[in-house]
Amino acid sequence: MTSYWDAHHETMSRDQLAEIQTKRLKTLVERVYTSVPFYRQAFQEKGITPGDIKSLEDLKSLPFTTKKDLRDTYPFGLFAVPRSEIVRMHASSGTTGKPIVVGYTKKDLDTWSDLVARCFSMAGGTKEDVVQNAYGYGLFTGGLGIHYGAERLGATIVPISGGNTARQIMLMQDFQTSILTCTPSYALYLADEIHAAGVDLGTLHLKVGIFGAEPWSNNMRRQLEEKLGIRAHDIYGLSEVLGPGVAMECPCQNGLHVFEDHFIPEIIDPVTEQPLPYGEKGELVFTTLTKEGFPVIRYRTKDISTLYPEVCECGRTHLRMERITGRTDDMLIIRGVNVFPSQIESVLLEFGETEPHYLLVVDRKASLDDLEIQVELSANMFSDKIAGLEVLERRLRERILSVLGISAKIKLVEPKSLPRSEGKAKRVIDRREL
Ligand SMILES: [Zn+2]
Repeated sequence: MTSYWDAHHETMSRDQLAEIQTKRLKTLVERVYTSVPFYRQAFQEKGITPGDIKSLEDLKSLPFTTKKDLRDTYPFGLFAVPRSEIVRMHASSGTTGKPIVVGYTKKDLDTWSDLVARCFSMAGGTKEDVVQNAYGYGLFTGGLGIHYGAERLGATIVPISGGNTARQIMLMQDFQTSILTCTPSYALYLADEIHAAGVDLGTLHLKVGIFGAEPWSNNMRRQLEEKLGIRAHDIYGLSEVLGPGVAMECPCQNGLHVFEDHFIPEIIDPVTEQPLPYGEKGELVFTTLTKEGFPVIRYRTKDISTLYPEVCECGRTHLRMERITGRTDDMLIIRGVNVFPSQIESVLLEFGETEPHYLLVVDRKASLDDLEIQVELSANMFSDKIAGLEVLERRLRERILSVLGISAKIKLVEPKSLPRSEGKAKRVIDRREL
């Protein structure tokens, strides 16, 4: 089921790992202090020099890096090598203003491919596989990151990119695709289209899905596994830290192993900025240990997770992070209660009568927050009697109230009536003027 791409690093003792991390951390700190004025100044403001960093314990004295720092130093201010050493750039799709730019040296691309190959291997991928890569190609790290990792593995990559669903299904059949890579929301859309086209799952060769770039729940996993006849793995990464391949779920499907020989993860309290112990939920923070072009020190991801230190049944010693349950910046505060769209998704998927296509509409009426959950009925339920729908609405409302502690209006809508996404799904419309 699983095989180690790099058994030495994936299964080394925690002591050996700490030794590697300490050595790499010291080198990193020395390097950014010398070559990145931003970091030199940030260190000086905290009154520290590279010589003060002697152990992993000292990590917590280092300054954080935020998305704002990346914007303020646009485009190349945080690069730690001359521009001529950079062989590729990627950029985030900034919704407003300038994007976030990241650069890779030749060695960085080599490391990245190797880590993504590690991910494929962890999910059971081999050179025998045909990988259909429906992540978008371009400035987004998803497409090319997965692409070169699959090549490094030796698999056959089909660089189809996102969209064009009819063609996706045709090639999936004709090329005998065995591994599908894309966002979970697009996978769900594809699955529905495959069923709508009357394709018999038995004629497909799909066995594994590697899905990431947006938070998704375990209930969503079950749906995808059932609808596509696959095992669905979560992959984690972000451009600022590397791209896909920072962490990956093993077949135990019990958290994602963070590749600690290359990254040090921390969980902090997003308000006090203090590190939290293993097992506690908070904001994920990463320090890159081996990147040359664009290293980051304690980068605040805004992703919410928990770290678990227990050795996994798969034999890997690297920490596991809980799959992302939300982001500090898409957390909704509704009538004073913290609500993550993924929690609502999880509740909706407990009910067989609805589909995992939903939209949350938040509004403020007479200074009171109002949450409406629009969710699609499954096709067989749609023809049901009005009375049945009223009962379902009530059950959903009660379940949301007991899980989230807030009341919501439930609006059941026709199958396939909510907008579909070929990239990251849009799940929230917030009409409040805060
Ligand atoms: Zn494992």
